Amino acid sequence: MDLLMCRSCGEFTEAVEEDRRLVPTKDGCPHCGEVEFKNTGTGNTVQLGE
Ligand SMILES: [Zn+2]
Repeated sequence: MDLLMCRSCGEFTEAVEEDRRLVPTKDGCPHCGEVEFKNTGTGNTVQLGE
């Protein structure tokens, strides 16, 4: 299972690979609702709604 880290609260959420990048399975962080996440493996930032 892949994980992305919330840019706001730092909690990890489940992610799936889509178009060769990770996207969260939820519409936002389940803890705080943030829509920006960090891929701690690559250092890339993932923003929902692009
Ligand atoms: Zn969060």
